[in-house]
Amino acid sequence: NRCLVWFRADLRTVDNTALIQACQKYSSVLAVFIATPEQWAAHDTAPIQIDFIRRRLAVLRSQLAELNIPLRIESVADFNAVPDYLVTLAHDWQAGHVFCNKQYEWNERQRDLAAGHALAEAGIKFSVLEDTCVLAAGTILTRQGEPFRVFTPFRREWLRQFQQSPALAQTAPQPLTRSDCDPRFGSETESNPGQSWLGYPLADSSLWPVDEETIRDALMRFCIEHVADYGEQRDFPAVEGTSKLSPYLAIGALSARQCVSAILHEHPQALEKQDAGPFVWLNEIIWREFYRHLIDAYPKVSRAQPFIDWTKQVAWHSDKAALARWQQGETGFPIVDAAMRQLKATGWMHNRLRMITASFLTKDLLIHWQAGEQWFMSHLIDGDLASNNGGWQWAASTGTDAQPYFRVFNPTTQGKKFDPNGEFIRTWVKELDRVPDKYIHNPHEWSGAASLAYPPPMVDHKLARLQAIEAFKQAKAAA
Ligand code: FAD
Repeated sequence: NRCLVWFRADLRTVDNTALIQACQKYSSVLAVFIATPEQWAAHDTAPIQIDFIRRRLAVLRSQLAELNIPLRIESVADFNAVPDYLVTLAHDWQAGHVFCNKQYEWNERQRDLAAGHALAEAGIKFSVLEDTCVLAAGTILTRQGEPFRVFTPFRREWLRQFQQSPALAQTAPQPLTRSDCDPRFGSETESNPGQSWLGYPLADSSLWPVDEETIRDALMRFCIEHVADYGEQRDFPAVEGTSKLSPYLAIGALSARQCVSAILHEHPQALEKQDAGPFVWLNEIIWREFYRHLIDAYPKVSRAQPFIDWTKQVAWHSDKAALARWQQGETGFPIVDAAMRQLKATGWMHNRLRMITASFLTKDLLIHWQAGEQWFMSHLIDGDLASNNGGWQWAASTGTDAQPYFRVFNPTTQGKKFDPNGEFIRTWVKELDRVPDKYIHNPHEWSGAASLAYPPPMVDHKLARLQAIEAFKQAKAAA
């Protein structure tokens, strides 16, 4: 009467569908996390996110121990090696059933297909359950039964279905009566492995606590103290106006259902008042769902393809020096540089800035969105294929944005609007300390500019904008 629960991007015991079902059906459960360092490298997973996962696994281990479930942490090279490892572990532990929560990314789906075949051949059941979205991918469809390609009608249908049967968070399962697990099935995570873990480089993630209480407090505090002002404050990077919960959602330390349940608990009218903060925040959770449904319905987007086919024809520039200036925050556009430096230093970037920097790379520099997607993925603590790819394709006008390709952000105007006094800029671009507020967005126009150790703008935005629009126009005409 034994089973395995295979943890992947769902590192929590609360509201974890696979864990809950396993505990309902079996009296003896072993949890396993299979690290795949070569796959992380192939997926450009950020060293800070791996450190974050590593730290969270230690918390998960103690939470599971309270349920009498040992956690085994194993490492194999990549996804190809996973099926054999799972079959061997299930045999050794004499488990007849493996549970896990579904992942929608292409490589993850192929891994699960292969695991399913290998387990079936060995006579072991395999249950892959819907968990990562509030409403499962494939269930929000048009009247014609097609997946939505545009956000607003998707949201309308999402809300309709959610109101019909609200999917709220479940608690952690009750502890199993005892653990009959041989101690050799549990394994320790090194508490301080230094610069690397399992051969994978690490970056310090300690600014982000991983314990359950702090995460839950952060969610509740946001819902009680901040969400009412979210609509007004969420676009200003100098203000703590957003929840900063994305790292937890990305590794599944927190579920989207927990977020929705918390907001509805504190603001029961959230769904009715669509211009108030709680709804505006819920809207972002629905964006997260939209991008997940999209990679499920259109696997090409998680296989390095644009959503809009003709945009393959865009004549992107391959300018390594320009890409490097963008990556290092040396473009001469203060808001862009501040944002890129924030990303490099902290592993996180504000949403408004992700839009500005992504638009700058893909439109002002006309550099392929995949170069930006890759850089973000390799630095973000909240790196998540669906949201990152969705955000990049949105900014590059190769994705599902309802706006056409001639929407190009003006980085200077965006800076003036969303960081009016340059408070955020000054935090990250120390070279601009002495620049008066009036010139903080155009420091090269200040009379003291010659003495600044800061580069002039690397492009003329007006010209670059026209060139980008022309490149898109030509690509469309050629298709
Ligand atoms: P809040 O404003 O508090 O929103 C709550 C939650 O809703 C977030 O934690 C996140 O899970 C979700 N969310 C918010 N905005 C979006 C959005 N536009 N798309 C999808 N989900 C959203 N988000 C990631 O989680 N991982 C990524 O790798 C990622 N890459 C991005 C790349 C680009 C180019 C862009 C434009 C956006 C990207 N986003 C990504 C979306 C968004 O920027 C972050 O989710 C958000 O900044 C996280 O901060 P927060 O938790 O304070 O968000």
